[in-house]
Amino acid sequence: MSVFHAGFDPSGDVVRVRFEPGARHCIKDELEVLGCSRALVLTTPQQEAQGTEIADALGNKACGLFANATMHTPVEVTAEAMKVATDTGADVVVAIGGGSTIGLAKAIAYRTDLPQIVVPTTYAGSEATSVLGQMENGTKQTLKSPRVQPEVVIYDPELVMTLPANMTVTSGLNAMAHAIEALYSQDANPLSNELALAGIRSFVNGLPDVVKDLRDIQARTDTLFGSWLCGSVMAQVGMALHHKLCHTIGGSLNLPHSKVHAIILPHATAYNEVAAAESLAPIAKLLNSNSAAGGLYDFAKSLDAPRALKDFGVSKIDLDKVADLAVMNPYWNPCSIEREAVRALLGRAWEGARPE
Ligand code: NAD
Repeated sequence: MSVFHAGFDPSGDVVRVRFEPGARHCIKDELEVLGCSRALVLTTPQQEAQGTEIADALGNKACGLFANATMHTPVEVTAEAMKVATDTGADVVVAIGGGSTIGLAKAIAYRTDLPQIVVPTTYAGSEATSVLGQMENGTKQTLKSPRVQPEVVIYDPELVMTLPANMTVTSGLNAMAHAIEALYSQDANPLSNELALAGIRSFVNGLPDVVKDLRDIQARTDTLFGSWLCGSVMAQVGMALHHKLCHTIGGSLNLPHSKVHAIILPHATAYNEVAAAESLAPIAKLLNSNSAAGGLYDFAKSLDAPRALKDFGVSKIDLDKVADLAVMNPYWNPCSIEREAVRALLGRAWEGARPE
């Protein structure tokens, strides 16, 4: 990390970004920039009121509201939304929500090439990537395509203020996980390292303040900025064992994405810290701990994050199944991926014990 390695290509898709409290009021202007006039607004059922507010503000530029975005982007829900997009003659989708709603926008864009304006209301970071994960026949498949990358991202910290405390914490840890894996990625570069460290710092400093006061606009702004950094770094470099495990657990056991990230992060970090000690040393230092893994566990505990898979109805048989799936087509990882070692990692995450 201390040595500058020249020779890397961080170029990506061109994205327009607006970032400020109240930025949601710019959506109409962004429609004009795109030359669009029939927006289909997307939300989950839980955020329908926020979606309605956006659709009302767009007036005759909104052609409809689809409020059934669903966790893990099942293809059946995408088919329903596609029908609404066709029936209403939509020429753009506007997604307001977390990774599930943005995932639906991406799934529609993948199939139609409609442009996307996305307004993230969690810290998951999906808006920054050209990756789409979707559930089909009980498994979660991911694909990468330039069509999937949203054209416009509107970060409005006021909208994240309604995120409940537990989801705020797990979503923040989800964002940090992107940056942790970026630090030891095989294609890490000087820019990705700086983005990752700055992103993690934003959460280490900001998340405790947000938890104290969910409506602390400065802390919400700092952490939303951190999520932009962490999402951007995930778009630049490859992810490893932690993400593979979370996709496998979330998809095959239908568990909430950010909670799984929160539980697995210290354990996947411990698995890799042996081989990636130098890359992870700044994290141990930032968290004032003798290891990055232990520091992440203590940080999560201080924020009352979930720490044990057993608290979510996961059985030991499920762990065997996940271990089998996770070692199939593994992502590149700094340590070799051994089935028994992965099963042992899952056992520790199931118990919720602090990693050694
Ligand atoms: P989510 O989008 O499923 O949201 C969880 C719940 O929180 C939903 O009910 C949602 O409506 C609600 N919510 C969101 N923001 C809120 C707010 N501000 N106020 C009140 N309620 C709010 O959760 P998530 O963790 O953001 O996204 C998870 C999904 O995103 C997974 O399917 C995951 O695979 C995907 N994802 C994809 C990428 C990618 O690059 N493709 C990256 C990260 C996550």
